[in-house]
Amino acid sequence: MNRRYRKTIIAGNWKMNKTLSEMKAYAEEIHSIMPKGKWCETVLCVPFVNIPSAVRLFKDCHISVGAQNCHYEKSGAYTGEVTAEMLKEVGVKYVILGHSERRQYYNETDFTVNKKVHAVLEAGLQPIICVGESLEQREAATTMEIITYQVKAALAGVPSDKMRRVIIAYEPLWAIGTGRTATAEQAGEVCEGIRAVIRKLYGARIARAVTIQYGGSMNAKNAHELLAQPDVDGGLIGGAALKPADFTAIVQAANQE
Ligand code: PEP
Repeated sequence: MNRRYRKTIIAGNWKMNKTLSEMKAYAEEIHSIMPKGKWCETVLCVPFVNIPSAVRLFKDCHISVGAQNCHYEKSGAYTGEVTAEMLKEVGVKYVILGHSERRQYYNETDFTVNKKVHAVLEAGLQPIICVGESLEQREAATTMEIITYQVKAALAGVPSDKMRRVIIAYEPLWAIGTGRTATAEQAGEVCEGIRAVIRKLYGARIARAVTIQYGGSMNAKNAHELLAQPDVDGGLIGGAALKPADFTAIVQAANQE
């Protein structure tokens, strides 16, 4: 992390978990244990249907609310979809885009991710753009090639003045939900590489201000080491965000680093 130049952001991705009543119980519990006077920005990306309640429930413990996806069009005949503007109106601040599960199960491509990045930025929200290599790609030593392509594709046409709202999450596919974490060196190396790609595209001043998260089985035990890497500015957290104590411990680690 480097707090001097950029925000540290710890974001939980609840995926398709927690009913409204489960979320209420979570909010009650986290309210009493969340560190006060935090330095890092804390976010919970909850299922669409629970967003308005989440905004109300988490306001007092300074947890912002995010969504896990959105459509790229502004309106229209897209049954089951939600626009960035709709999310903004109900209090969303962040939108996860291009998560590997969306790429794998819902045909999300670099092209649609790019269109969504534009829609989210236009609505005044912050995209959390997920990129990451598969195990085969890592073993073939093509990690940085893949990541460079994904970052460039996601950011195509994004002007410099909107880059201060962009967050990139490096999530190696082999580490998501597997309990297998990238080593701090691997995470640090790729996050540094992502910053270098942004530097080439937008220059040093913008690159040093972009928050780059690591995601993939981050937990209370490994968070310190991962967040100690100079280019790892936070985490995107799946499993460990589902329990208030585990999520809070990661926020605490981010505050200590
Ligand atoms: C994720 O799905 O973005 C993620 C990082 O999940 P987990 O922490 O469970 O690996």
